[in-house]
Amino acid sequence: CGIVGYIGPRQAQDVLISGLAKLEYRGYDSAGVAVRDAGQITVMKKAGKLANLSGELQGRPLAGTLGIGHTRWATHGLPNDTNAHPHATEDGRIVIIHNGIIENYLSLKEGLQARGHIFKSETDSEVLAHLIEEAYTGDLEQAVRDALRQVRGAYGIVVTHVDHREIVAARTVSPLVMGVGEGEMFLASDVPALLAYTRNMVFLHDGDMVVLHDDGFRVTDLAGTPQSRAIEHIEWDA
Ligand code: GLU
Repeated sequence: CGIVGYIGPRQAQDVLISGLAKLEYRGYDSAGVAVRDAGQITVMKKAGKLANLSGELQGRPLAGTLGIGHTRWATHGLPNDTNAHPHATEDGRIVIIHNGIIENYLSLKEGLQARGHIFKSETDSEVLAHLIEEAYTGDLEQAVRDALRQVRGAYGIVVTHVDHREIVAARTVSPLVMGVGEGEMFLASDVPALLAYTRNMVFLHDGDMVVLHDDGFRVTDLAGTPQSRAIEHIEWDA
């Protein structure tokens, strides 16, 4: 339902929670964040209101300056802590969030299970983490591209890997907008999540894929062909 991503000098958790709060009006049943720090990505997720999650984080904040956050509106699997996003691979090295529905998730899941993957959740989304893991040979962008080629449905997906200081995202049907700061980059499913941080935005087109670094971004299509996307200055208030 709601997506926020951050890479830059700030503590990511603060940007994620404040951004998700701006998307609360859309409705959701659970919330979660993942923050990457030297050598690990830590996931914290809770069913219920965002306040449950931020309350949990208050006692033990997640340190790190790269992170992704999600508010879930369940379509596949109960609204509980386990089914909340983000979803990680078994080794915790790849972490994803997903908006939308993966229509062919059941056959993908059966194939992955037959090849030894162990699933933690009942969601359609979790197949994405495992498909990316299977496709990964050192290049995260390429692995996401290979995984998405096997997928049918609607998605806004945001991916992090413990070995890479970058965020990889892609969209089909589900919206994604990027906020362009100075030495920092933002990502969200909708503009209000980012207005407190920047008014320079890039609206990703259907079928776009993007790699975010601290100091910039690169958009391609799912085949890997570079796409040029203009930065728009948003004047209005949400
Ligand atoms: N289909 C996914 C799930 O049920 C994502 C739902 C959403 O867009 O929030 O977990």
